[in-house]
Amino acid sequence: MSKIVCVLYDDPVDGYPTSYIRDSIPRLERYPDGQTMPSPGAIDFKPGQLLGSVSGELGLRKFLVGQGHKFVVTSDKDGPASIFERELIDADVVISQPFWPAYLTKERIAKAKNLKLAITAGIGSDHVDLQAAMDKGITVAEVTYCNSISVSEHIVMMILALVRNYIPSYQWVVKGGWNIADCVARSYDLEGMQVGTVGAGRIGLAALKRLKAFDVKLHYTERHRLSREIEKDLGLTYHDSVESMLRICDVVTINTPLHPETEHLFNEAMIAKMKRGAYLINTARGKICDENAVARSLRSGHLAGYAGDVWFPQPPDKDHPWRSMPNHGMTPHISGTSLSAQARYAAGVREILECWFAKKPIRSEYLIVENGNLAGTGAHSYSAGNVTSGSEKVARYKKAAGA
Ligand code: NDP
Repeated sequence: MSKIVCVLYDDPVDGYPTSYIRDSIPRLERYPDGQTMPSPGAIDFKPGQLLGSVSGELGLRKFLVGQGHKFVVTSDKDGPASIFERELIDADVVISQPFWPAYLTKERIAKAKNLKLAITAGIGSDHVDLQAAMDKGITVAEVTYCNSISVSEHIVMMILALVRNYIPSYQWVVKGGWNIADCVARSYDLEGMQVGTVGAGRIGLAALKRLKAFDVKLHYTERHRLSREIEKDLGLTYHDSVESMLRICDVVTINTPLHPETEHLFNEAMIAKMKRGAYLINTARGKICDENAVARSLRSGHLAGYAGDVWFPQPPDKDHPWRSMPNHGMTPHISGTSLSAQARYAAGVREILECWFAKKPIRSEYLIVENGNLAGTGAHSYSAGNVTSGSEKVARYKKAAGA
């Protein structure tokens, strides 16, 4: 029997939904690169249900308890007095989500003497101190591709929202106004602009494909260059450095994992290299940007807009500078947790657990750390080290919010 501790975000304030606005979600056969969809032996939920919140339990309770395991689900994740920290002590498996990350710092890993497997219900395992996981022989796995397309759709939405000045225009309507000049004094067409991505993996490439339809000039920078065929097909210009791409681009989207190479990549100096009036979209990880440098660049007008859904730590403080800076289009971390994405990552977590308990290999696409080393997708996309430092600040949010 194992103990599985699962940290999920809270239910909606009005309670767990009893009905949904749509009756079904589309059934997808494969991901765009041919990777197969999560394939657990069975699922105990209806795709389209809210699974990522506490009462949704990722649809795992029947399966886990039925096998005799102990399954603890909580949203109380921050600080030494949290349920997570208490339950972690004898947990064999931890499941957490990037949207509401249970930070598995070195200190917490040291307390979790039985911990053998950390699963990310989503993509991006930077909330785990990967170096400490490697040192302790803990396997880290995530559900690669489960929400990559979800995020790419969000990126296109955010680019259009900023460039066309959608959010303030919507607010004029809500306020009862008809202030056309106020709305359009910051509104442009995306057509013809230079748009670039830092990172052209699953999300970055999907964003480029979707943006092609807008007749923009597309750019990218990457550690491993894409094939000439893809470059030609999408009309991509490759840059061997971020700086070279920033000098040209009107819109920049960040799509790399957070790892020691990308932590605070967009600091004051890097943002200064962007064109005046450029837009920056970050749905990758908050810590890739220096929060104060971003806020200053919006205040000074150097950047025309910043949008994204990722912050550090999460949830952010009530007075985080990104809540009040001008011309932003921030949301909470939601792009990868649409109901459609939840069905995929819940099934993927179940597949990983089924493999784990049956002592079968977890597919390498899902592996980040195994046997003391970066492995599978982790070996390709991450670099060794730890990027969780500063996550303890999150406890202060809970206090300030009175939660
Ligand atoms: P992929 O691994 O498919 O793509 C990431 C790409 O970034 C890889 O191609 C990698 O290059 C590249 N890269 C890594 N380091 C650098 C660097 N220093 N400079 C340039 N390129 C670099 O991951 P995904 O596209 O699926 O996801 C990317 C990230 O997006 C995740 O790690 C996660 O942090 C975030 N994410 C956010 C979500 C949300 O809800 N907002 C949901 C899902 C993911 P190479 O292949 O050459 O190593």
